[in-house]
Amino acid sequence: MAAKVLTEGGLRVVMLEAGPLLDPAKHYTEHLWPYQLAHRGAGVGGTGVNAAGSYEMDVAHIAGSIAGEPYLNAPGSQFHWTRGRILGGRTNHWNCVALRFSEQDLQTRSLKGYGEDWPVRYEELAPYYDRVETLIGVHGTSEGLAGAPDGIFLPPPAPRCSDRLIQQGCASLRIPCIAGRAAVITQPYNGRPGCHYCAQCTQGCHTASRFSASQVLVPPALKTGRLTVVPNAMAREVLTDASGKATGVSYIDKDAGVERRMKARAVILGASACESARLLLNSQSRLFPNGLANESGYVGRCLMDTTAHMVAGDFPQLARIKPHNHDGTGSVYVYIPWWKYQRDNGFQGGYHVEVFGGPMMPKVGLFRREAQEAEGYGAALKSYCKERYGTSIQLHGRGEMIPNHESFCEIDPAGTVDRWGIPVLRFHMKWSANEVAMAKDMRTSLEEIVGAAGGTPLPFEPNAEYGYLNAGGVAHEVGTVRMGKDKRTSVLNGFCQAHTVKNLFVTDGGCFTTSPDKNPTLSILALSWRAADYLLEQARKGNV
Ligand SMILES: Cc1cc2nc3c(=O)[nH]c(=O)nc-3n(C[C@H](O)[C@H](O)[C@H](O)COP(=O)(O)OP(=O)(O)OC[C@H]3O[C@@H](n4cnc5c(N)ncnc54)[C@H](O)[C@@H]3O)c2cc1C
Ligand code: SF4
Repeated sequence: MAAKVLTEGGLRVVMLEAGPLLDPAKHYTEHLWPYQLAHRGAGVGGTGVNAAGSYEMDVAHIAGSIAGEPYLNAPGSQFHWTRGRILGGRTNHWNCVALRFSEQDLQTRSLKGYGEDWPVRYEELAPYYDRVETLIGVHGTSEGLAGAPDGIFLPPPAPRCSDRLIQQGCASLRIPCIAGRAAVITQPYNGRPGCHYCAQCTQGCHTASRFSASQVLVPPALKTGRLTVVPNAMAREVLTDASGKATGVSYIDKDAGVERRMKARAVILGASACESARLLLNSQSRLFPNGLANESGYVGRCLMDTTAHMVAGDFPQLARIKPHNHDGTGSVYVYIPWWKYQRDNGFQGGYHVEVFGGPMMPKVGLFRREAQEAEGYGAALKSYCKERYGTSIQLHGRGEMIPNHESFCEIDPAGTVDRWGIPVLRFHMKWSANEVAMAKDMRTSLEEIVGAAGGTPLPFEPNAEYGYLNAGGVAHEVGTVRMGKDKRTSVLNGFCQAHTVKNLFVTDGGCFTTSPDKNPTLSILALSWRAADYLLEQARKGNV
């Protein structure tokens, strides 16, 4: 986003990209059948799980395990770091849920007495949400809910039978269940064709009908003639001069296997929250012995994810419906915004619920569960899959995580380096009692909704923490280079600018002060646009 705004504002930008340029023909698989992929797209052994026990996607260049690029967990910590190495990063394969943060999310300390206040108010961010939604296209409906601010919406797709079942269940419990808000365009928009309902957004989208940075932001920036993208360029550290100003970036040219330097008047990091923290921690010098802009010691601190718990319901009645076209977008049709305000819930913060499932287009990896449940193969397995097909609806709780001092990343003290000799991260991640209580509440409330909708909750094996076994599993990691008003407890100001290095900006989720229940990407885009506007203004004034 920053590259688009800066180049359109007249500046020249060089983008160092650790992965290749996007080639949809090679990297996107949404129009392939599962049988066209190795192991039906469910990973080696058909489990979708890597050697470390973590879930892996079957898509190009998005993975937890990257050959030659390890990361570590401290004893007792299980953080799963899903990384992108391709132009546009993980937006090539995201689920497109696009929710605004509210004033209540941004000011939890002042308004509710926990967490931290952001140095940005909703009224300052709202115009940027407006611009982002207008540019990328987000569907939804205006509902006037204080905790879930309305946006500039395209019409949402009509809910399908599975969605309507959940809506009916929610209505009987007096819980709001409204149209999903997602960056999928339901009609031709800004030169992109509307969605053709192949239901595979996380596998990629050849028509760019769902937003990705590579297809929606990079092309207009290139059109200005002022953007140069350098693919396969792995940034190693930010360079500084004797006065402490950033002067550029040193990077590994992965094709040539050599280190190079790129000079710049200003440096913007957008490598994802933990990778940007890693870059700063690895940028050590006489002036910055603990890493660049890290006088507060907060680079790497306050690592947060989303508190997540899923309840799946069995709805055999869906199998009795006459076969019909139930295909849709690959994103969310209906969702349940947080509804238990003004109550004592036994935990701080809240969660929303995303609804998926029903008899839609068989997705890559579908029938994984059935293949594990059923013995045998051939006709018997087929008939079991047919019987089960489309009868599960999943309710995904997505909740706030409050920053805590036991969750952080650091450069591995044992000195592990990646294949280019760059020191790697070691994670410490701990859910607090608040997140565990929230996940337990999700279990009870979501089971109640499944029951009210006429389904039976599928059994679940509670682990000690109730959330995902591995934090990081939702790929919403944020907070490691946080913004704040107080320089002693933060790294950046409200414009994503380092407090102590005025020509250094961090515009990914690292800049987040807290991790509200809402998915992060729409806010990353809005904050990034705002930061780029500010940098343009500072450049015009000659301040950077
Ligand atoms: C399956 C999936 C579903 C998701 N669904 C949603 C959703 O519904 N809603 C939502 O809000 N969010 C969702 N997310 C999260 C979303 O993808 C991220 O919030 C978003 O992509 C973060 O953007 P980013 O630019 O900070 O990082 P990334 O998208 O990870 O991009 C980082 C970029 O930096 C490059 N890079 C990394 N390190 C270096 C380096 N050292 N040098 C040079 N380049 C480097 C990478 O190659 C990449 O291009 C989902 C994520 C996944 C994996
Ligand atoms: S469902 Fe629509 S937006 Fe998603 S990949 Fe298919 S065409 Fe693209």
